[in-house]
Amino acid sequence: MPSIFTKIVQGEIPSYKVAEDDQFYAFLDINPNAKGHTLVIPKKEVNRIFDLDKETYTGLMGFSYQVAKALEKAVPCERIGMSVIGLEVPHAHVHLIPINVMDDMRFIKKEKLSQDEFVALANEIAESFE
Ligand code: AMP
Repeated sequence: MPSIFTKIVQGEIPSYKVAEDDQFYAFLDINPNAKGHTLVIPKKEVNRIFDLDKETYTGLMGFSYQVAKALEKAVPCERIGMSVIGLEVPHAHVHLIPINVMDDMRFIKKEKLSQDEFVALANEIAESFE
């Protein structure tokens, strides 16, 4: 059965898209640690990040770099934190999180955003993406 993230890539489940190319897709985390918390995934469905072939892995890192640059421009923050977990969704993904304090990297502190706020945020990040 396809992962929830594959369903997002295929448009079966909606997402707040930030950026996309032929191999990678970036979208806002629906339960963000902080405003702008973004997930970057390879379209190819592989569970564990270090099981990706090396080319896809380095491509994912390169795409994440571009998304992080856009996030820095769009979301005021001290820096962009990066994390890979994957215990909830078995489809490799990079968490990019605009952080100000250490707690922003803890997955217990959550930010509530309205649908309009998600849409506006995704558009702002998308506009900064190069
Ligand atoms: P983990 O697999 O532990 O790295 O966490 C998966 C992340 O995916 C969590 O931060 C969830 O909030 C996020 N997530 C799960 N389903 C969706 C979805 N449909 N759209 C956006 N983010 C999601």
